[in-house]
Amino acid sequence: MSDLNRSIKNLKGVGPKKLELLNRLGINTIEDLLYYFPKSYEDFSKISMLGDYFNDEKNLYKVKIITPGLVSRVRGNMTILKCDITDGVTNGELVFFNQHFLKPQLYSGRVIYVSAKPKYNNGRIQLTSPKIIDEKEVNSGLLPVYGLTKGITNNELRKFTKSAIDLYVNELEEVLPSEMTAEYGLAPIQYAVRNIHYPKDEKTYAISKRRLVFEELLVLQLALFKLKSGNDRYSKGIVFKENTLLNDFIESLPFKLTNAQNRALNEILIDMKSDAKMNRLLQGDVGSGKTIIAVLSMYFAVLNGYQCSMMAPTELLAKQHYISLSEYFKDTGLNVVLLVGSTPKKEKEHIYGELKNGNIDIIIGTHALIQDGVNYSNLGLTITDEQHRFGVEQRNRLNAKGENPDNLVMTATPIPRTLALILYGDLDISIIDELPPNRKSIETFVVNTSYQARMDKFVIKQIDDGRQVYVVCPLIEENDMPLKSAEEIYNYYKNRFKDKTVKLLHGKMKTDDKNTTMEDFVSGKVDILVSTTVIEVGVNVPNANLMLIYNADRFGLSQLHQLRGRVGRGEYQSYCVLINDNRSEIAYKRMKVMESSDDGFYIAEKDLELRGPGEFFGTRQHGIPDLKIANLATDMEYLKEIQNISSEISKEIYEENNSKYDRLKLKVDALLSKCEEIGTN
Ligand code: ADP
Ligand code: MG
Repeated sequence: MSDLNRSIKNLKGVGPKKLELLNRLGINTIEDLLYYFPKSYEDFSKISMLGDYFNDEKNLYKVKIITPGLVSRVRGNMTILKCDITDGVTNGELVFFNQHFLKPQLYSGRVIYVSAKPKYNNGRIQLTSPKIIDEKEVNSGLLPVYGLTKGITNNELRKFTKSAIDLYVNELEEVLPSEMTAEYGLAPIQYAVRNIHYPKDEKTYAISKRRLVFEELLVLQLALFKLKSGNDRYSKGIVFKENTLLNDFIESLPFKLTNAQNRALNEILIDMKSDAKMNRLLQGDVGSGKTIIAVLSMYFAVLNGYQCSMMAPTELLAKQHYISLSEYFKDTGLNVVLLVGSTPKKEKEHIYGELKNGNIDIIIGTHALIQDGVNYSNLGLTITDEQHRFGVEQRNRLNAKGENPDNLVMTATPIPRTLALILYGDLDISIIDELPPNRKSIETFVVNTSYQARMDKFVIKQIDDGRQVYVVCPLIEENDMPLKSAEEIYNYYKNRFKDKTVKLLHGKMKTDDKNTTMEDFVSGKVDILVSTTVIEVGVNVPNANLMLIYNADRFGLSQLHQLRGRVGRGEYQSYCVLINDNRSEIAYKRMKVMESSDDGFYIAEKDLELRGPGEFFGTRQHGIPDLKIANLATDMEYLKEIQNISSEISKEIYEENNSKYDRLKLKVDALLSKCEEIGTN
């Protein structure tokens, strides 16, 4: 066994207690520690001048103490320790709170290094709560700042990484072939790992980071290529035959397909007619008309004598799809059924039988569709709606019900294209980037809670005009707030609008109750529906034209956009009111984006930019392990380059079996098995 794979407890200073804490940080082996990269750095390489006080960052200063430290006592127990300083050009003062014990160190004439953010206060430059820096650390370059857990300090981690680097970094082996490192000017791995922890300057840092990001993204991209070729490229699928009845059906629709819909449909039909198995993602903003594309694909499969299944993440959605599909297919003689968890046992058994003997053409449902009892006579096409809610494993189980059925997944979560290539690397992508004509845009307003009275008036007006209203409250999972906050708001509306019908909907209700509530809203019996985000996806109530969203800053922008898409689905002018009491600049900017745009792709890009990818989406949710150093939002420039390189070399790796890629191949396989673990969890 290489020393790198040995437990971290072999490192000096790591006893049982620290071992447990390190494990908690995901550090089990020496190699894990070497790859535990800093999240930021302290820069003690540059000494700043007090006169540059407008520079609002933590800086390092070399100052001489002019007057000895003076302690004063304020408000009860608080102490303030102050002393005058100079950097030779400008004078200022140090201010410490509750650190009077430092007084003996602050004697007149002493020269010290301190790190602090400068402040200009009462005509003086103040360094408040400065950190006194040991002279040894000055000029030692950038010092790592690590992600910590309670019980372990940054200094301890520095000690551990330092000794791990000194003792073991030379054992790291190159994964990339030497031609590649030469061609792309990549630093050696040992250099990169050493210097990502302790870079002597910005340049060394940049060189090291590039090397590590390059490798990480390359491995990720190759893994995704492999998934993709394993899944569909080479697997044979059904060859569906042209059928003119499909065109007749399209002609008979009450509307004309948009260009984008036609394009997507075409791409799907080409896949279905080819002998390769289809694995396609259909991406389209809320309301862009994905459902009809699903309908047409399924009709095409049925015309070819095959059965289809369509899986949605919630019963609500499955039902809704069932209703609209039944409507679309009502004159075709197709047998369309619904199968969900709450379907009575007897009916389920009946459906199982009819499915098996081929009497059912199209089945729509939830996870109930991947249960053991479900078997088909000849399944030809599967559709997964809102695929990010399902793991790869569930999608596979749905497909395993047939013999290589074609597979279409749909999502209304717009993702910038480069990212989609990473996240959905195993799928081909079609995008509907155009809304059907004559869609009224939704007017969006941002207010704070002090507008409640005005909002109430607005709510009454809509209801008196015969419309319905959504009120949405965020899910705050940590302390089980969702129920409480939704309930509080529900109570407010119930009491405020005694003569209207107000109902509450949340995820923890019994399925039956949820269904009844939603049905009552769909049929117009409920005026105001107060809910958590269970209504987020796909729900279609054209008569609802107003949505109020509380604590709007708690949501991702893409999610807000999805929610907002629940209104504006009918002929009525629709409104979305975002209620935000968060006064931070970033919250303000995010709300502005919602006010000014209704383009899901633009909103997604802004969200990514303003919040970073970690918040934008859990990559884990998409079956991809957390990245150690690459950042899918800010390292976009590398992505394109790496996507090109990957497609160039994957042939050399997997078809020609060129041995110079052996190590890289191992890394790719290790990542793939990690992905699988996540997918099955
Ligand atoms: P999505 O599932 O993409 O959110 P839907 O498929 O529910 O959107 O479509 C939203 C609405 O637009 C539906 O009422 C549908 O009938 C209608 N629609 C779809 N395509 C068109 C079109 N080409 N022209 C006019 N209306 C359309
Ligand atoms: Mg095919």
